[in-house]
Order: sequence, then C-alpha cells, then structure tokens
Amino acid sequence: MLHIIITICTHLGSMKEFIIIGAGQSGLAMAYNLSKNNKDYLILDANEHIGAPWLKRWDSLKLFTPTEYNHLPGMPFPFPKGYYPNKYEVADYLKSYVEKFSMPIEFNQRITSVKKVDGIFEITSGTASYQAKQLIIATGPFHTPYTPACHVDIAENITQLHSENYKSPEQLQDGDCLVVGAGDSGVQILSEIADTGRKVHFSGTDKITAIPQSFLGKTLWWWFTKIGFLSVTRFSKMGKWLSKGVQPVIGTDVKSLLAKTNVIHMGRTLSADETSIKFQKGSISSIKNIIWATGFKPNFFWIEDISFDEMNYPSNYRGVSKDVDGLYFIGLPWLYTRGSATLGGVWKDAKYLMTHIQENK
Ligand SMILES: Cc1cc2nc3c(=O)[nH]c(=O)nc-3n(C[C@H](O)[C@H](O)[C@H](O)COP(=O)(O)OP(=O)(O)OC[C@H]3O[C@@H](n4cnc5c(N)ncnc54)[C@H](O)[C@@H]3O)c2cc1C
Repeated sequence: MLHIIITICTHLGSMKEFIIIGAGQSGLAMAYNLSKNNKDYLILDANEHIGAPWLKRWDSLKLFTPTEYNHLPGMPFPFPKGYYPNKYEVADYLKSYVEKFSMPIEFNQRITSVKKVDGIFEITSGTASYQAKQLIIATGPFHTPYTPACHVDIAENITQLHSENYKSPEQLQDGDCLVVGAGDSGVQILSEIADTGRKVHFSGTDKITAIPQSFLGKTLWWWFTKIGFLSVTRFSKMGKWLSKGVQPVIGTDVKSLLAKTNVIHMGRTLSADETSIKFQKGSISSIKNIIWATGFKPNFFWIEDISFDEMNYPSNYRGVSKDVDGLYFIGLPWLYTRGSATLGGVWKDAKYLMTHIQENK
C-alpha cells in the first residue's frame, strides 16, 4: 500500500508536455516525431516489454507485408527486399527502434482512466498517476477478444481458445478441432492445424475473398501501391466502401485449404449445448478443441468526455479528437487509409499529427 502511495506521489510531481499511451508501432512512430522536434514526452505501456502484442500472437505468424513495406520512420526494417518476417523479427525491430532513439518508456502501466481537468490530462493506472498537456492514444485496435455467446454452453472438457491465446497445435488435446472465423487469423490457424492431418471443422462464410501474396512476379503490396489503393482515404467514395466491407484474406490459398479432405466446412455456428454444436450445415458432437478466431472489440471507454462512431472507435478527424483539445489517436484501422494500421503506413499519420500539433501550439 505504502509502495503504491509513494509511486503515485512520485508521478504526480512531473508534468509532461506529451504522454503517449501504447508502445507499439503507432506509439513509437509518434515518439519518433516528438523526439525529432525536441518535445518532452513519456510513453506508457501496459505490457512488460516492447513487441509484446506481436510475441503473444501464434508462433508460426509471418507478416503479409514484405520488408520494403515495414519501415518505421527513421530506421529501415533490417531484412532484404521481398522477405516476409516472422513475429520475433518484428518484435526485435521494435526493440532496436526504441534503443536507437532512446525512447523513454514506463512498462507495466495499464491506463484505466483519462480525464482532462483545468486543461491538463490526468492519466491513471492501477499504481500511478501522470499529468500531460497533450495526450496521444496509441493502444492499437485489438482490445477485448470477442467470442460468440454460445461458448459458455459448451462442455467443460472441450478445449476452447480465442485466437489471442492460440500459439500452436501442441496446445490441443487429441480429437477433432473446430476453427471459427473466416478472417486472416482464422484461415491461417485452420491451415496450420489441417497440416497436422487432424480433422478440422471450419465455421464461417465460404464466400471468402482471398488475394495471393504475389502476382506476376510482384508482391501484392507493390500492386496496391501501383494502383493507388494505399492512398485511398476513408473519406472518398471508394474508401468508404472499402473500409466498411469485409477485408480480404491475404496470402492463404483458401480454395485449396477448404478442398482438403480433413477440412470440413460447416457454415456459421448457430448454437451449442453440452453434447453438440449446431451449424448451418448440421450438428457435430465429436469436437474436442475449438479456436475462436472471431476478432476483437475496441475499448476506449476509459477516456472521459469523448464520443464514438458506430464501431465504438473515438470520433476523430485523421487522429485529431473531435471532442477534446490536445487529444490524439493513432493506429486505428482506416484512421485515414488502409495503410494506417500497418508498420509501413503509420508514419504518414504520425507525420500529419506532428504537423497539426506544431501548427496549433
Ligand atoms: C495477426 C496479425 C497479422 C498482422 N500482419 C501485419 C503485416 O503483415 N503487416 C503489417 O504492417 N501489419 C500487420 N498487422 C497489423 C498491425 O501492424 C498490428 O496490428 C500492430 O500491432 C498495431 O500496432 P499499434 O501500435 O497500433 O498497436 P499494438 O501493436 O497493439 O500496440 C498497442 C500497445 O498499447 C498498449 N496498451 C493497450 N491498452 C493500453 C492501456 N490501456 N494502457 C497502456 N497501454 C496500453 C499495449 O500493451 C501495446 O503495447 C497484423 C495484425 C495482426 C493481428
């Protein structure tokens, strides 16, 4: 208790010009700009070390963007062009980035409340309080794992994992598996488990739009750049349509995957009870393992006095809060373009916010 009181008192003393909440790629891209402009700032992060969100993802994860589309501002991604890095290499890159620019970070600080009082942001975690004149929220888009309500009706002896906690097929018990979710994570996990020869049921739409990682000898991201897709903004007619639609799966040959004899497509999951799970295409009682690759819900409700869009993302224009002066967001999906939530695209939003900050001193 005494330790908590001392920590709170220590932090209350030091007002920062800027605080960034979140030390992922978005927070670091913003920190780079603040460093370059000699601003006084501090980064706070809930995790214990840099790269944690990447390292927590499944072991075999490889990026869908090759090296040349993974550069953060000021330091190239250190691999040859055309190489698709794994999650460990991304985490190492972020660590080197922080070291290169000597970025000040306090770890193990999950911020639970933000409010602006008399023009100053009061930022509180379970053990400390901070104050800042301006605040940048870079907490990523993946907060609360979403699992359909029927998961609570499933028998306790069935292993259930959200994709957030899935690492490899070794976590599964003997017997059939079910993978729910037709996004990138769902099909990649389905593919990995199917490769072990185990029977895998797949639940989700069969109308998956899948795009190969390369085409006519060029990477997908090369084509995206060439046709201007990465410059389409969410405010254009095309951007509105693209950002609201289902994102295509990248790099998995979904047609071949679903044609495998040990992969059985069941359509959507409808309900469950102790003995079986009901799908659009029938009921099954042999499932022993379930991976819910059913996504995440955003959680920004700990920030006071802000409004939200229909997806519960904070109201903003290109990251500038529409509700609170001096409050900014970075790293949200389609903050401005498809590239906003990618390693190689976030620099543009960071640069825009820095310019806005400089012009509104
Ligand atoms: C499976 C998968 C594959 C992907 N593949 C690619 C790819 O190939 N290429 C690509 O460019 N992008 C890829 N992405 C997208 C993107 O690069 C990542 O999602 C990226 O991690 C988002 O970066 P971020 O900094 O915005 O958020 P995050 O990396 O999620 O970082 C947010 C940070 O905020 C901290 N935080 C969160 N809440 C709080 C709080 N309340 N208080 C304090 N700290 C908090 C977290 O601890 C975390 O460190 C992929 C994403 C996923 C999920």
